Amino acid sequence: MAAAPDLVILNGKLVTFDPARPRAEALAVKHGTITAVGATGEIRGLAGSATRVFDAQGATVLPGFIDSHVHLFGGSVELDYLNLYGVEGHDALTEAVRAEAARSDDRVVFAVMAAYDILGPGRQTTRQDLDRVLPDRPFAMFAPDHHTIWANTKALELGGILHGGETDAGSEIVIAPDGTATGELREPGAYKPVLRHTRHGGRDMEGLVTGTDPVPAPGPADRARDKAAIARGLAHCASHGITGLHNMDGNFYTAELLTELEAEGKLLCRTEVPFHLKSFDPLDRLEEAEEMRRRFSGDWIWTNRVKMFMDGVVESRTALMLRPYPGTTHVGDPVFGADHFTEACVRIDAMGLQIATHAIGDLAIRRTLDGYEAARRANGVRDSRHRVEHIEVLHPDDLPRFAALGVVASIQPGHAPRGRIFPAHGLDEVLHPEQIPMAFAWQSIRQTGARVCFSTDWPVIQVDVMDSVKAAAAPLELPAPWTDQRQDLMDTLRSYTCDNAWVEFAEDRKGRLRDGFLADIAVMDHDLEAMDPEALDTARAALTVAGGRITWEA
Ligand SMILES: [Zn+2]
Repeated sequence: MAAAPDLVILNGKLVTFDPARPRAEALAVKHGTITAVGATGEIRGLAGSATRVFDAQGATVLPGFIDSHVHLFGGSVELDYLNLYGVEGHDALTEAVRAEAARSDDRVVFAVMAAYDILGPGRQTTRQDLDRVLPDRPFAMFAPDHHTIWANTKALELGGILHGGETDAGSEIVIAPDGTATGELREPGAYKPVLRHTRHGGRDMEGLVTGTDPVPAPGPADRARDKAAIARGLAHCASHGITGLHNMDGNFYTAELLTELEAEGKLLCRTEVPFHLKSFDPLDRLEEAEEMRRRFSGDWIWTNRVKMFMDGVVESRTALMLRPYPGTTHVGDPVFGADHFTEACVRIDAMGLQIATHAIGDLAIRRTLDGYEAARRANGVRDSRHRVEHIEVLHPDDLPRFAALGVVASIQPGHAPRGRIFPAHGLDEVLHPEQIPMAFAWQSIRQTGARVCFSTDWPVIQVDVMDSVKAAAAPLELPAPWTDQRQDLMDTLRSYTCDNAWVEFAEDRKGRLRDGFLADIAVMDHDLEAMDPEALDTARAALTVAGGRITWEA
């Protein structure tokens, strides 16, 4: 007689994404694998005396969520920072920051999720503003998108950039007419000098800022502190039904910490760590990507991808556009030159690695697709699954190119003005009316037959899955020229599970509730299909199972 399962889940509404059996009520798990899917009566009969029996009570059961674009280290660290989401105006900011300063003995008092117009609509934040908020200690705060930091005078002095300094292409220490820094630091090359004085020494952002390991190499105390933060972040992800993560910044250090966490039994989500190629890197650095792929190739930590940035973000007018921003002659900032990017794509593609490129503006998206197309021409068509991240402002001519080139559209529904997380009207003044119909055009892209995968870009927004599910399936209706891009609930859930497994080339073992697949499972606390879509964000994971192990139980 076959040994009894370790776990059975009964009385669920299973959404399996298995075409052979799209719906079921129950499943069994043994040794980290799904061993049976079927009716409750049938699966109950398999349970032995040592089997854990979980009653889903009629709620939705899904393949574990995979968040296909996160910054795990930064997101984890930021769970413990002052969060300014929803804080508006000088008084509220001052109150929050001074309370934090009283609690914190950090060298730089640091806050996250500061709105671009935290001090009022259209108002730029300056170091003098922040000196009034906190005069006597270094203080700095991150924009939600992590493309800008604002710093007070003490923090700029600490970073040695009060009078400016060297930065890489695409980064800017904004300078006032008097020759001093305004306090606005655009892009990692500009804010790195301040970040390195924060709680984790900037190590949490190193995989994003440089893609190299922290220098000097962290000692045992720093490693332990960093690992403890990541372990808390992984537990937080698991509490939202997440079993897999595609990290979007990377270095050996992050992958090593995750490997240690795995050995300690604390790696609660399977995590891909990419090699991050910066525009100022020689292409020979790609040898490190090869080495990362060789060293990290397990089921729980692996490298198979290179991340690049093509541009910045719309909010700070650093996203790269085909035409100047309204009322300006400025088209944004290319991070990569087009030829350099294409050369990188050809080389990475020839190595058999996947590419993921941040591209937000219409020119950035076009150049990214051009690079992928050039790689196909040079190396031949292969199953490359290259990805474009964000795709916020798409030119209609480029819409069919995703499906035509087999390029994955990697989208964060919660970032859109209709997503109910950021202000609904934040982008109207930085976009031309003609750009808006194809802005955040999820459904238009989906209808071309392109693969669409969903994620959060945590900590740009919270990693909480159901907030993003609601953003996609029950978005705000914005007036024209905004278009209706609402997502079907099943498409949304598929883009968050099954399709994310496909994107990581794991569709043969992950992303479906099916006999023989990895036991990565999310049991929700509601029947999602029966819910008022407006209430989707009130649903949570009741049980999360990763590799057959319970990683979260409400
Ligand atoms: Zn990102």
